[in-house]
Amino acid sequence: MHVALPRKWRPRTFDDLVGQEAAARTLSNAISEGRTASAYLLTGPRGVGKTSTARILARALNCEKGPTVRPCGECASCREILARGDSLDVHEIDGASNRKIENARELIETVRYAPQRDRFRIAIIDEVHMLTAEAFNALLKTLEEPPPHARFILASTELHKIPATIVSRCQRFSFRALTVAEIAEQLGKVAKQEKIKVTAGALSMLAAAAEGSLRDALSLLDQAATLSGGAVDEAGCAQILALVDRDLLEGIFSAAASGDRGAAVATLTKLLDAGEDPRRIFKELLSLLRRLLMLAAGARADLPEADQKRLSALSRAIPYENLLRAVSLGIEADALAKRAEDAGVVLQMFVLKLAELPRLRRIEESLSGIPSAPAAAPEPPVSSAGSGEPRGPRILSLVSVEAEPGAAPGAPAPPDAITRFYDLLDSRRRVTWAHAKLAESLRVEGDDLVLRFGIDKAAAKEALEEPNVRKLLAEVAREAFGRSLRIVLKTGPPADGDLGQAAREVPRESLSRERASNRAEGDPVVRSAMELFRAELTEVKEEE
Ligand SMILES: [Zn+2]
Repeated sequence: MHVALPRKWRPRTFDDLVGQEAAARTLSNAISEGRTASAYLLTGPRGVGKTSTARILARALNCEKGPTVRPCGECASCREILARGDSLDVHEIDGASNRKIENARELIETVRYAPQRDRFRIAIIDEVHMLTAEAFNALLKTLEEPPPHARFILASTELHKIPATIVSRCQRFSFRALTVAEIAEQLGKVAKQEKIKVTAGALSMLAAAAEGSLRDALSLLDQAATLSGGAVDEAGCAQILALVDRDLLEGIFSAAASGDRGAAVATLTKLLDAGEDPRRIFKELLSLLRRLLMLAAGARADLPEADQKRLSALSRAIPYENLLRAVSLGIEADALAKRAEDAGVVLQMFVLKLAELPRLRRIEESLSGIPSAPAAAPEPPVSSAGSGEPRGPRILSLVSVEAEPGAAPGAPAPPDAITRFYDLLDSRRRVTWAHAKLAESLRVEGDDLVLRFGIDKAAAKEALEEPNVRKLLAEVAREAFGRSLRIVLKTGPPADGDLGQAAREVPRESLSRERASNRAEGDPVVRSAMELFRAELTEVKEEE
């Protein structure tokens, strides 16, 4: 019979607990020194070992050979708890399950009576914050004058919902979310023992998707292994995780970051048309923005290495302030989407707002009255955008405006020739003209005419790759530029695969700020900085 991995690998001793060394050590010390409290409160995110710890603790307290850090595993108490989670004298309720919560008060009253067989009468109450006011009162009464044989082990994911009067009477232990690396390492160990073949990339994907919960990660590994017949790779994981197409998601960001509202909405529509749930897209888009913000703030990101590299580059493609605004907008819109009947509309509005961010003037500039100086900004690429487009400070472009290493030094094509090129194309074949207009930039590089498309416009580029269309482009180019040019179509970031160029185009002030924030290593500092910025952002008037 197949035993689910989370169950099979549930920690059974303090030493088995992964990532909760502090809690495990304190608890072990207290038990070996014979200092046991009448109530313990284990708090922290889901799936990180709270309930397992409660059961280990119950065994440690009630083992025939105990109290001991190493329960024997053979006495009646140990065996019962190992098999079912509770025993004759250990009662377990889960506040999250309605059926049992009704009995909470009754159970709390029961614990006042002497144990039937073992040393202590123990109540394990999971998700204790769900208790009714009545049950909390009974609990409080018992904790105020705890009978010597009564022990309470409370666990909760929501500490703030537990009455302070209860919290103050407990010995409290915080459990933390695990890092991607910790989870991946543990998954690797389990996979090896279970003889599941799994690639390193797949381990990272599963670990990242588990969001700090080892239990969730094990369950995902289980599903992936079952589905793939014991050989788990990245493709299989993507299927299990039902991930929103990552390229499209990042495409939305790229398009919005360069102020291209049309492309941003088109990419979003593609996802919606593919049947993705708008709330799911929202969740992932928001989590992408948060990651980018953390990276931009110089925080060490808890990410698989490949993602780290790609996302670092993306995070530098938009000024830090705008990234802060984006996250802040996202949080507001997310709350709205949860209430809205049509979350898709909220999502569209949010994406459009994102695409407006590049048009905002810098606060400092607004305050000092100095107009944004185009001289300080990099030379914008020859834009193919219609002349009606606002020519705001397009500080950011995901596309290199510098020549690629090794390529002939590029020169912007003469504006007249470009106009001629497009006009001719328009008269010859309107569809092709429309596709070509979607290029971010059009340059003559040596004998090449290079059209570069944003990552999100790959479809337009593809359309131009048709042999007939290429031929047409070459003909029109010869006529417009007065000489033969080879048509070169490119997509996305420079060929070296990183967006370092775009990053280097970020204004100098942003870079020095980035250096400053790099010094602010460590999450707490960055987090408080975020709080500060958010507070400040509500007062900033954004100008057209
Ligand atoms: Zn025992």
